[in-house]
Amino acid sequence: MVEVETIVERSSPPVGGKDRLIPPQIPSTQQGGDQGFRPTGDIPSFQRFVFEDNIGTRLRVLEFMTSDAIFKPVFGLSLAEQRALTLERLKRFGRRGFIDCMDVVKNPKRFAAVMECLHLVDYSLSIKGGVHFTLCGGTIAKLGTKKHHEKYLDKINQVQWPGCFAMTELAHGSNVMAIETTAEYDASSQEFIIHTPHDAASKFWIGGAAQHAMISTVFAQLYISGKWLGVHVFIVHLRDEHGHVLSNIRIEDNGPKMGLNGVDNGRIWFQRVRVPLDALLDKYCSVSPDGTYSSALSTIPQRFGVMVGGLTTGRILIAQAAVDASKLALTIAFKYSTKRRQFGEKLIIDYLSHQRRLVPSLAETFAYHFAMMDLMRLVQSKSSPKQEHTLSSGLKAAATWTKTEILQRCRECCGGMGFLAVNQIGPMICDMNVDVTFEGDNSVLMQQVVKGMLKEGLSNVGIKKPSLDDQSVIDEVAIQELLITRQRVLTAKLGRKIQAATCQGISAEQAFDDNLDLVLSLGWAFVEAHVMKIFHERVSSAGEGFRRPLGLLCHLYGLSRIENDAAFFLTHGLLPPSSTEVVHAQSNDLCRRLSHNAGKTLLSLCEGFAIPSYFITAPIATDAEHFPSTATINLAKL
Ligand SMILES: Cc1cc2nc3c(=O)[nH]c(=O)nc-3n(C[C@H](O)[C@H](O)[C@H](O)COP(=O)(O)OP(=O)(O)OC[C@H]3O[C@@H](n4cnc5c(N)ncnc54)[C@H](O)[C@@H]3O)c2cc1C
Repeated sequence: MVEVETIVERSSPPVGGKDRLIPPQIPSTQQGGDQGFRPTGDIPSFQRFVFEDNIGTRLRVLEFMTSDAIFKPVFGLSLAEQRALTLERLKRFGRRGFIDCMDVVKNPKRFAAVMECLHLVDYSLSIKGGVHFTLCGGTIAKLGTKKHHEKYLDKINQVQWPGCFAMTELAHGSNVMAIETTAEYDASSQEFIIHTPHDAASKFWIGGAAQHAMISTVFAQLYISGKWLGVHVFIVHLRDEHGHVLSNIRIEDNGPKMGLNGVDNGRIWFQRVRVPLDALLDKYCSVSPDGTYSSALSTIPQRFGVMVGGLTTGRILIAQAAVDASKLALTIAFKYSTKRRQFGEKLIIDYLSHQRRLVPSLAETFAYHFAMMDLMRLVQSKSSPKQEHTLSSGLKAAATWTKTEILQRCRECCGGMGFLAVNQIGPMICDMNVDVTFEGDNSVLMQQVVKGMLKEGLSNVGIKKPSLDDQSVIDEVAIQELLITRQRVLTAKLGRKIQAATCQGISAEQAFDDNLDLVLSLGWAFVEAHVMKIFHERVSSAGEGFRRPLGLLCHLYGLSRIENDAAFFLTHGLLPPSSTEVVHAQSNDLCRRLSHNAGKTLLSLCEGFAIPSYFITAPIATDAEHFPSTATINLAKL
C-alpha cells in the first residue's frame, strides 16, 4: 500500500548544505508560489495577450493547485508510488469540480484551458487526466446521448469512476479501422456480446486499465444477425467499486515504461462479456431492441470518421502539452543560462552557440502557442470540422516533434545540471517521448494532413516565385511567400507523381504510399506556412509593449524555417545562392539582439508563459536572490 502523504512530504527538492545539487555560485532557495499572472510592469497585459481566453478560469484552477502540496512536482518515485500519486492528484482535481466533460462539445476552449493547467504538474497527470476526462468522458459526451450523459458524466467529472479508452489492439495500432474486437447483438437478451477473438486482438496500451479504471469506452466491430456494420463504441464496466476485475474480463499490466510511469497501462481481453443495449454510444447510430440498425451515416467509413472524432480534442491537448513543456524547459534553461558563468566572467547565454540553440526554440514555442490558440478558436466556432481535423493532425505532429528537439537542446544547454531529475527537463524528455506516437503516430498524422489538403483541392493553386535578389533582406512577408511557394511546389510535384503513376495503372493509394517521403515534406511545409501566417497576424495585433520582441521572434521563426530547408529553396530556384549567407547572418543578429542585456529580454518573454513559480522547482532555476523579477524590464525598449 503506497502512502501518498509520505510521497508529498518528500516533494520539495533538497536545498543548501550537503544536499546542494547546484553549482556553488547559485545558492538554491525556493521562490514563493504566485499565480504566474503577476500584476506588475507590463507583464500582465503581455500574459493576457498570450493566453487570450478563460484567464479567470485558469487562475482559479492554478490557485487551487498551488495551494495543495500534492501538485508540487516530485521525482525519483517507484512505479507504485508514481501511480498512486497520479491517481490521488486526479481525484483531488476532479473533486474540485473544475471539469465538465460536456464542455468537450459545448465549450471546448474552457475545457482545454482547464486541462492545460494539468500540464504544469507532470505528464503522467496530463495523460491520466486526458485518458479519463478527454478520451473516456469526451467520447461519451460526443457520441453518447442523454441517458449516457446522466449516468456517467458526473461520476467521470468527479473521478468517482476512473475511466479508460480501449481502442488500440496488439495487432492494430495505427490501423484502427481494422481492429478485431467484436460486439455481436443478441436480440433475445437485448445485449451486446463483447469479445476478443484471439490474443493479437486484445486491447493493448490502455491507460488506466492495469490498476484503476472502473469503466472503459471500448471500440469494437458491430455485427447484427451476422451483418458487419463497422467500428462502434460501447461503455463496458471493468471493475467493481472495490477494484475487483469483473467476470469474463482479463487484465494484464504492461509494466514499467521508459517514462510516464504514473499511468497504469494495461492489456484487456473480453471473454464474451455481455453488456446491455444502452452500452452502445448511440448519437449517430442506434439499434432497436429487435436488432434493427439505423444511422444517418450510410457508409462504414463515414461512421468510422465520427467514432474516432473524439480523438481530435485529445490530439489538440497532446500538442498543447508539448508546447507547454517547451515553455517550462526553456524557462529553466534561460534562468540557468543567464546566471551560469564559464571561462572567466562570461555568462553562457552570451555564447552565440548557446543563443542559436535556445532563441530559435523560444520562437518556435511562441509560434506553436499562437497556432494552438488559433486552432481552439476554430474548434470553438465549429465552423469547419474538416479543417479542424487537418490542422489538429498537423499541429500535433509538428509540435510534438519540435518539443522533442527543444527539450534535448534545453537539457544540453544546462550541461550536467540538465541531467539531474530534480531539474525537471530530463524527466520531461522521458515522460513525453511517446507523444510522437500516441493519439496518432506522427508519420501517419502527416499523411492525414496531406490527404486533407488534396481533398480541399489545394493542388490547383498556381505557383509564383518570389522575387528576391542576392542582397535582399528577407523579411516576414518574403518568408511567408517563400513558405507558401514551397507548399505549392511540393503539392504540384506530388500531384504529378500520383498522376504519372495512375497513368501506368498503379492505384492512387499505392502511388501515395510510394511517395511518402514527399508526403511528409509536404505535411511539414503546410504546417510551417500556416504557423508562420498565424504568428505574423498575431504579432500585428500585439500591444505596443511587446509587439517588437514578438516581431523579432516571428522573424527568427521564419528565417529558421528557411535555414532548415535551405537545400529545397536553392534547388528550386526560390532563393539566390548567396541569400543563404544573408539568412544565416540575419538569424545570428536576431539571436544576439534578443539575448542582449544578459538575457533579460528572454526572461521577460518567458514570463509571458505565466508559469507559476510553484511549478518551476528546478534548483537551477529557482534562486530568488540571483534571479530578480524581470517584470520591470520594458519589452518595448528592445
Ligand atoms: C504509453 C502509451 C499509452 C497509450 N495509451 C493508449 C490508450 O489509453 N488507449 C488506446 O487505445 N491506445 C493507447 N496507446 C496506443 C497508441 O495510440 C498506439 O501506440 C499508436 O496508435 C501507434 O500504434 P502502434 O504502437 O501499434 O504502432 P504501429 O502502428 O505499429 O506503428 C509502428 C511504426 O510504423 C509506422 N507506420 C505505421 N503505419 C504506417 C503507414 N501507414 N505509413 C507509414 N508509416 C507507418 C509508424 O510511423 C511507426 O513508426 C498508447 C500507447 C503508448 C505507447
